[in-house]
Amino acid sequence: MRVLFTAAEIFPFAKTGGLADIAHALPKALSEHLDVVSLMPLYRFIDKKRYQIEPTGMEMTLIVGETLHTVEIFSTHYEGVEHLFVYNETLCDCEGIYGPPGGCYENNDIRFAIFSHAIVELSKRLSIELLHLNDWHTALAAPLVKDAGLKTRIVFTIHNLAYQGIFPPLSISRTGLSPHHFTLEDMEFYGSLNWLKGGIAHSDAVTTVSPSYAVEIQLPEFGCGLDGFLRLHHEKLSGILNGIDTTLYDPSGDPSLPYHFSAGRMANKSRCKKAYLEEIDIDTPELPLFIFIGRFVEQKGLDWIIDAANVIGKFPMVLSILGGGERRYEMLFDALSQQYSNIHVQIGYDESLSHRMYAAADFLLMPSRFEPCGLNQMIAMRYGTIPVVHRIGGLRDTVHPWNGKEPLCGKGVSFSEPGASGLVRAIEEAIELYDTRRTFRRIRKFDMDCDFSIRRCAQRYESLYRTLF
Ligand code: ADP
Repeated sequence: MRVLFTAAEIFPFAKTGGLADIAHALPKALSEHLDVVSLMPLYRFIDKKRYQIEPTGMEMTLIVGETLHTVEIFSTHYEGVEHLFVYNETLCDCEGIYGPPGGCYENNDIRFAIFSHAIVELSKRLSIELLHLNDWHTALAAPLVKDAGLKTRIVFTIHNLAYQGIFPPLSISRTGLSPHHFTLEDMEFYGSLNWLKGGIAHSDAVTTVSPSYAVEIQLPEFGCGLDGFLRLHHEKLSGILNGIDTTLYDPSGDPSLPYHFSAGRMANKSRCKKAYLEEIDIDTPELPLFIFIGRFVEQKGLDWIIDAANVIGKFPMVLSILGGGERRYEMLFDALSQQYSNIHVQIGYDESLSHRMYAAADFLLMPSRFEPCGLNQMIAMRYGTIPVVHRIGGLRDTVHPWNGKEPLCGKGVSFSEPGASGLVRAIEEAIELYDTRRTFRRIRKFDMDCDFSIRRCAQRYESLYRTLF
């Protein structure tokens, strides 16, 4: 089976979050059994030399609305997978993937329409049998494939329903979409055009990234206005839990770490903690170290951390935060780090630093208001860092009560009631757990032995692909 796997971001070429991780790990695992080609835009900031990305000589002229766009196809082989890249000025000459820091580009519909038209053209030229689309940035390809009369099967994965690609009706003509798609059963959404709806309507299977999230998004509370539409299509909707690349995230050999460790040899984890605390100039290695790593957006429950800061500031703990995004959060966290000596904040995106933090920490805070899957908690557990999470979406599927009877992987502290008070109680519970050294160490080891590898996830996708033929 020849598969084209497409996403707007793929690690290590371009990454803002979990989508890039999965778009790297899943094709790699799938390619052990299937003929998989990956495809993404060749953004200007991607280091072509470093990754040996070369032109293939293939050029295509695409008609997008009233405009002709020339695209060039580049390629490289990375970790055993053939990666293709689409280069076009409008799509790729940008500072960020979706926009400048904290924002988005006004012509994102045209940019990702060029990408989607290129996906369809390449599907034809490469005789693709199955097209795996990810999120709204590639969703337009689904109706375009059907309109072109191609028999290519389509799997569409929703990584986050909160981002739908909603554009004014004017966008129909400039993206080269046939106006017949502007109906209630198709892409019309409260008078606007909704790309994600198109992805759902025109795919043969729709997946989302955890079983719990697949259920939640069919409820008004989490459906972001599409719950009814998803209920209508529920027969082709399923939740497949994401996984992580356990070679990339491996505390026993991770090149970003000053010391290496494994479940059987934990002494070096304490050395990683000590080294990291020295790096951030905090001299209380005896206190539990909590970390937060993530995009600064409302989804991640940052307001609850901010509301709880006056309590956290007095607790016997250290909280170290790494992230960036919405300016208001950056300013608020900056202010908190000035006010409380046990709260440290680093604004920005730093892959290597994030690995050092996962290795150094005792606990990972993840108080997301909603969480489609979440990779941070799985990465954390791989590094012996116990997650403290809001029991929701993928967090519910991966973090189980440490004092529960079920032998489920993995274990951590969770809270159900949304808000700062639930979070504070969970932090208190984690601090108590830290003080009962034996149980703390047992859970840490248990989590490190859990299998969150992408292999299991790839097997589910492979089975799903096969049901479509
Ligand atoms: P989301 O996709 O919603 O951003 P996930 O938990 O699925 O969240 O994935 C987040 C990924 O991005 C993880 O690999 C995490 O380590 C990484 N990440 C997020 N923010 C940063 C940052 N500021 N610096 C380094 N890595 C980050």
